[in-house]
Amino acid sequence: MKKYDVVILGGGISGSLFALNLIKKKKSLSILILDKERQSKPKVGEATADLSSIFLNRLGINHLLSQQQQKTGLRFIFNEQNSSDKKDVLEFASPSFKTFANGYHLNRSVFDSKLLLECEKKGVTVFRPIELNSANFKSNKCILKVSCNGINSEIESCWFIDASGRFRYIKKKFNWADKKISLNTGAISAHFTSMSAPSNWDREDTPYWLKNALGSKSYATTHFLKSNSWWWLIKLDEFTSSLGVVYNKNKISVRDPEAYFLESIKQDAILCEVTKNAQISKINHLDSLPYICTKMHQNNVAVLGDANAFIDPLFSPGLEITSQQNEHLVFLLLDYFKNNKKNTIAWKKYEDKFLKTYLDRSFVYSNLYQFMHSYDLFSNATQLLFFGYQSFAVLPLRYFPSRIKNPLRFYKVDGWIFKKLFKRYHKIVINREKNNRKSSSLKQPVSYSGINIPNGFYILFKPIHLGLIWLYNYIKIESTEFYFLIKRKIK
Ligand SMILES: Cc1cc2nc3c(=O)[nH]c(=O)nc-3n(C[C@H](O)[C@H](O)[C@H](O)COP(=O)(O)OP(=O)(O)OC[C@H]3O[C@@H](n4cnc5c(N)ncnc54)[C@H](O)[C@@H]3O)c2cc1C
Repeated sequence: MKKYDVVILGGGISGSLFALNLIKKKKSLSILILDKERQSKPKVGEATADLSSIFLNRLGINHLLSQQQQKTGLRFIFNEQNSSDKKDVLEFASPSFKTFANGYHLNRSVFDSKLLLECEKKGVTVFRPIELNSANFKSNKCILKVSCNGINSEIESCWFIDASGRFRYIKKKFNWADKKISLNTGAISAHFTSMSAPSNWDREDTPYWLKNALGSKSYATTHFLKSNSWWWLIKLDEFTSSLGVVYNKNKISVRDPEAYFLESIKQDAILCEVTKNAQISKINHLDSLPYICTKMHQNNVAVLGDANAFIDPLFSPGLEITSQQNEHLVFLLLDYFKNNKKNTIAWKKYEDKFLKTYLDRSFVYSNLYQFMHSYDLFSNATQLLFFGYQSFAVLPLRYFPSRIKNPLRFYKVDGWIFKKLFKRYHKIVINREKNNRKSSSLKQPVSYSGINIPNGFYILFKPIHLGLIWLYNYIKIESTEFYFLIKRKIK
């Protein structure tokens, strides 16, 4: 029987990054990754956010990252009138300045397979393609029966980490329950080659973008916001782009995903132009995106990444929470190997923190779908989210790197403020719909988040700057609503 300290089920991005981080911190550990596929497959999850970028940039895999496309920013595009005239299209954008949080567009099949090779180079054993025939979990070890390329073997391991993604091996095996959530979304996506040149559908780069961003905005993660759905456009290299839609199943019913995907592109003035003459690959459908498992560990078993929970891909948070979980789990496992016992209090805190994060995010996302088509309301809500994210998660990492373990979640007052604000945004949307009005208070066609990471002392002022941008625009929204209210009353 072969013996390992840690067995990881799943050689996707969560499994490989976990193995790399663990072996980096304790070289003597024996780690085995088991994956059912011979080759890494193309996947969604192709853009990194600030925290996942910081995590990746620190892992010592820069030679792999430099082969992927550098992300130049975030863009949110609104076309409430479905106009084909570029001048009617509005945009909220956040160009990426040069910082320690610079991100990537990842071609996942290439990146995932290179990560696995890197694991092997660093001393991790990888078996694939395998079939896991049985697993027997005891209080401090597990015995696995595995067949790999027709050869059967028995494996003993001290720890078992489930990183099997949406297959969710451990959740099924132990019959763990999921939390009840109201968010109810599905996604359809495909890779395209030879898409239209941006000059056919996009505005030219503005002077602000040209002056500050790392590169052209065609390499920014681009979102097209619509009523109860949003599309992503992620350029992976010169020829290939990923295009996909996430839709609110509480409002949009999709019977034939492929037909819905193609028809929606045809009906949308910009997307139709973006995909004109492009070749499309296989269309993928995920019927149900969000889930949160109530448990994250038991005895010497822990779940990681999509095997544990997934909320929504808007703002690209998937790899981000996985990275934070990764740091936390590595810390807990190292503590176990040092003391030869599980620190039950620390594990409980870990589970509670992440569960709270997932629930808070599901609350935020289920509210965002109510007004995501509205330029000024969505931009304003996003600006406030950016303020919280930058002030309490990203900026502190500049000087306190170990804080990356702590996922962002609401405390009492901030949660209450968001609840009230989301209610208010929703009410404004309903009022506008009743009176046949569209987004009106932000007159400029392109507005910017103001996000960058200043050096030294100036970093302290950044949260104030971001907060003031939110407040200024919120006052503009309320003043416009007040103006229309008075106008209606006078009539
Ligand atoms: C529509 C959509 C868009 C997204 N966009 C983004 C984004 O832009 N940015 C972002 O950060 N995140 C995004 N995400 C989330 C991101 O895709 C996932 O969080 C990430 O891929 C999870 O990685 P993972 O390794 O946990 O799972 P996976 O990548 O699914 O890997 C699981 C691995 O386990 C293996 N496996 C499965 N079952 C078994 C088994 N029984 N035995 C052995 N091996 C097994 C599989 O072969 C695979 O290699 C998106 C998600 C969705 C649904």
